[in-house]
Amino acid sequence: MINVTQSYLPPIEEYSDYLKKLWESKWLTNRGVLVNELEKEICKKLNIEHLLFVSNGTIAIQIAIKALELSGEIITTPFSYVATTTSILWENCKPVFCDIDDKTFCIDADKIESLITLKTTGILATHVYGIPCEVEKIEAIAKKHNLKVIYDAAHAFGVSYKNKNIFSYGDISTCSFHATKVFHTIEGGSITTNNKELKDKLFLYHAFGHIGDDYFSYGVNAKNSEFHAAMGLCVLKVIDQLIEKRKIVTEKYNSLINLNKIQQPNLPKETVYNFAYYPVIFENESVLLKIKEALFKEKINTRRYFYPSLNNLPYVKKAEVCKVSEDISRRVLCLPLYPDLEQKNIEKISAIINANI
Ligand SMILES: *Cc1c(COP(=O)(O)O)cnc(C)c1O
Repeated sequence: MINVTQSYLPPIEEYSDYLKKLWESKWLTNRGVLVNELEKEICKKLNIEHLLFVSNGTIAIQIAIKALELSGEIITTPFSYVATTTSILWENCKPVFCDIDDKTFCIDADKIESLITLKTTGILATHVYGIPCEVEKIEAIAKKHNLKVIYDAAHAFGVSYKNKNIFSYGDISTCSFHATKVFHTIEGGSITTNNKELKDKLFLYHAFGHIGDDYFSYGVNAKNSEFHAAMGLCVLKVIDQLIEKRKIVTEKYNSLINLNKIQQPNLPKETVYNFAYYPVIFENESVLLKIKEALFKEKINTRRYFYPSLNNLPYVKKAEVCKVSEDISRRVLCLPLYPDLEQKNIEKISAIINANI
């Protein structure tokens, strides 16, 4: 079976060297040496000041919403993984869906202002597929209306925009380090902010609100373990090579697939990309279903990332209509993309697609 993604695993000796040290120290979690080292190394690699390593990318968003004290309505994208919307609901806020831009598939910044009401407190937007949102426009709107901005940067590890790492935009940026993502720690995630006060609050929230015997606030348990940090340190060492290999797979697809008959999202200028996904948009849903089935018969798994459009989730009531997102969601398929995807399989996948569009 060829899956849509395959997690990179380091040479087992490299990981077990870390394990041996853990067996000696017997310190397995609660911000041990490796968690601290991973945070430091990621900051160095991405050229950012602070990053908090947490247990997953979903709790990262929930903590971000809580720490920014958002309430009422949060304007968000309908074109993302379900965790973006569920985090808003989980924090007892109402998601207000703003349609996406038909070029980048990120939230359409020009449509945000008309959705702002007296209850709006924030904007939660996703850099979908690692493609940067219109961060300047969003920042200007947020300033004007006194709103907080959270970026769900779960797809965007290693992306930079206008010479700045993508995590440095917004009041808070979150990431997922799940096994299926570009950079992974098996399960894991991160929270980044440039604001020192906020950073301390996020720190307390991720670890029960206390430091040693001093209790400052309530909190939750979003800490991650030394085992996960060890995997992260192994993967981080080769992240540039992994992204380079993704680029080669992407370029191979580009050269083989009949691009005249499909649509793909555009990358804004001044973006350094991470080649996180390979989405293709077919003419209509029946072509998509036909191709998905033809690939599946050859043991090739694709995913309908992202379907349904999140405004159409069964438990979201009275959501806004989002024509572009609903249309793209019905027609988009993500093809297998991972560093070691073999050339012969890229050729096979491309041939099946070309024969069916
Ligand atoms: C993967 C993902 C998440 C959730 O991350 P987990 O680490 O799986 O909890 C959130 N948002 C987006 C856009 C994602 O793709």
